[in-house]
Amino acid sequence: MADKIIIWDIDGTKAKFHQAYLKFLNTQIKIDYGVDPKFKEEDLTTYNFEKCPAIISKANRVGLQSRWFLNCLRKFAERGGYASLQVYPGVYQTLERISSMEIPMVVITDRVNSIKSDDLLTYEALEEQRRLGYKIREDTILWYKLNFRNFFSPHQLYFADDISKVGIIKELRKACSYIILIEDSYNTAAENASISETNFSILLDRFYNSEDNSGYEPDRVLRISGNDQEQYHNLTATLEELVKQFTS
Ligand SMILES: [Mg+2]
Repeated sequence: MADKIIIWDIDGTKAKFHQAYLKFLNTQIKIDYGVDPKFKEEDLTTYNFEKCPAIISKANRVGLQSRWFLNCLRKFAERGGYASLQVYPGVYQTLERISSMEIPMVVITDRVNSIKSDDLLTYEALEEQRRLGYKIREDTILWYKLNFRNFFSPHQLYFADDISKVGIIKELRKACSYIILIEDSYNTAAENASISETNFSILLDRFYNSEDNSGYEPDRVLRISGNDQEQYHNLTATLEELVKQFTS
């Protein structure tokens, strides 16, 4: 049994997804719907774009109907958006430190699930959805090869698809005594920490998740604040502290 494992999320932890996608979204809505909602970073007050009150009200004001978000996200994926995201610079220093601690690392992402439709799909629509899922997988692997050649191999990447992200963590839990998840989604961080006494979540504080906790941070969810560079420095220190606890 592996003793401990570190699980990384991608978007919002390694990749600057929210900023890039917000820019894409504003442009794509102008092209597809002929209106300009002028979404801004400060409108993102919660992790899920579609649930932010300012986003909802701006979308309503320009008359956007319910499908605009999913349609644009699919176009972002289709056009290789996931292959070209910027990396948070501090990530590298944390990865170097983890490598020297010789702790196994994997990555789990919800990217494939995020472009799925809740509707009952025709065969063609289902095939189209699957094809886009493969495109996301390919682009994610490409992005890793471009940016993290020294730290990852594709077999460390898991795509939540039929099994949810937390479902995959529960499977990994069977083979590991300690789990540390690095996340930017408050809900996923809280869910992981509730699995067992030895599941910990390191939640990177972001402008879109700081209000998600309703003033309450559950046990084993460790929120890390600071500017970009400080944050990864603090993340590394927190990781070291946790690992020390596990071995004492
Ligand atoms: Mg994320």
